[in-house]
Amino acid sequence: MRRRPAHNGRLTPTDADMPNPPASPPAATPPRLFRSEEELARLPASERIRYRLVDCGRRYHANDNIADCVRGGELAELTAEVQAKLQDVLHTLVIDTESDHNTQETAKRVARMFIDEVFRGRYHPMPAVTEFPNAERLNELMIVGPITVRSACSHHLCPIFGKVWIGLLPNEHSNLIGLSKYARICDWVMTRPQIQEVAVTMLANELQRRVRPDGLAIVMEADHFCMHWRGVKDSNTAMVNSVMRGAFLKDANLRREFLALLPRKNA
Ligand SMILES: [Zn+2]
Repeated sequence: MRRRPAHNGRLTPTDADMPNPPASPPAATPPRLFRSEEELARLPASERIRYRLVDCGRRYHANDNIADCVRGGELAELTAEVQAKLQDVLHTLVIDTESDHNTQETAKRVARMFIDEVFRGRYHPMPAVTEFPNAERLNELMIVGPITVRSACSHHLCPIFGKVWIGLLPNEHSNLIGLSKYARICDWVMTRPQIQEVAVTMLANELQRRVRPDGLAIVMEADHFCMHWRGVKDSNTAMVNSVMRGAFLKDANLRREFLALLPRKNA
């Protein structure tokens, strides 16, 4: 690559190019690396939340939950920001949202849909899940499912619809959670822009942490609308992913038993 010379043909400025140096600040002034809450309050909510995430070194990919860094009232502000940007997108798509009554409220509807519904699992904390000890010392294969999955791919933000089956082999030290709670945790992980193979691993990690079973198996089968609606427009493709941990990895019979019990779509 060629270096671009400065205006005067020299590559680097010399002292003669520089204006009079500003008066140096008093030595006691600390560098302003951190923003005060007052300064943060003047920023848009999205910048405030991002500042906190960066400040505590947190990743904020599409499928990460960021609820810890969102304060009260900020989701309403975030929704208003998203609405304004979506209004710009509609304008740039040359859609007359003023006379077309169908699109007058579209930006608002989609902003609410993103924050409160389809990407809810990014902005809201995990639903409360009560764990109770395995008093009966259950140690037989348990299967939960099919749990309906509604998600979106992070590549196109197109819907992903599918089903999840969870297999568990509890031990006497496992915590048990109510059946409906598996669906709640699954929904929390899936209502984010996701990548299916990562989503099943995230779900496995959440369940592993809470239930601490001897074995955990998850199978997810889903339709990706970015395959049906656009791209190759193939309506018969479904994606299947599985995660096998502990006893399900070591014991082929257990794995077979679990897989044989799944009532799969085309079986
Ligand atoms: Zn996609």
